[in-house]
Amino acid sequence: MSDFGGALKLLSEHPDYGLAILGVPFDEKASYLRGQAAGPAAIRAVSTGKCYNPETELGVNLERDAVLVDLGDVDTSGDVDKSFGLIRKGVAAILAKGAKPIVLGGDHSITYPVLQAFAGRYPKLDVLHFDAHPDLYEDLYGDRLSHACPFARVLEDGLAASLVQVGLRTATEEHRALAARHGVRWVEMKDFRDGLELAFDHPLYISFDLDALDPAFAPGVSHQEPGGLSTRQALRVLQSIRAEIVGLDIVELNPSRDVSGITAAAAFKILQEVAGRMVRP
Ligand code: MN
Ligand code: MN
Repeated sequence: MSDFGGALKLLSEHPDYGLAILGVPFDEKASYLRGQAAGPAAIRAVSTGKCYNPETELGVNLERDAVLVDLGDVDTSGDVDKSFGLIRKGVAAILAKGAKPIVLGGDHSITYPVLQAFAGRYPKLDVLHFDAHPDLYEDLYGDRLSHACPFARVLEDGLAASLVQVGLRTATEEHRALAARHGVRWVEMKDFRDGLELAFDHPLYISFDLDALDPAFAPGVSHQEPGGLSTRQALRVLQSIRAEIVGLDIVELNPSRDVSGITAAAAFKILQEVAGRMVRP
């Protein structure tokens, strides 16, 4: 465990935490290169307070203004059904405390069980999804739980009151049809302009696939897709959101491709800025 810029507190001393890290070392639903299971450890390792401080750019000090704990990793040693069940259970336990989960993936398939748990607490939940890919395949090679499919499942099950997807640049005709059918709002990269401000009516969950970022900024992903967001552009969108943010996942970090560690550092930066907005909307 590391210390998230010095912000981390001990669970034993702070059972009534407000923000909780939950790692999900899982990459069994990756369709191409695996390695995302090592993501949580890499984000923890990079986040050391020897290198970073607990201040966000918007003036929240996560050590002083938040109670952030690390609940460790979900046990993913069993089969997929068991792992997804433990993800639901872990997230539900955080929500039952009235706290906000920050989930570290893992491939993107894990967002489906996370949002199943959220549905138990938030019958109306808006979802903001950053990704190069819409992740709206009905199935990929016959697998409906692939990391290419979580948002098809989320829409099908009615787990999102609204879904906004930002950073897309790989959409297929099938994705377009499904998105249109469910009223999904798309901000494709070809149309992205600085100054994008998003507002939401309901509590907001953010799912951040690191391949939304341009591979120049975040090469440590399995599907490097050029033409993406700069880290700054993503941060600006996150910092300007008008909503009560109640949950976050950061997924698809593949440390084996993250030679300099810059992608893990970007993940940590995003974590800090969103955590700051959770504390001070
Ligand atoms: Mn994804
Ligand atoms: Mn992606």
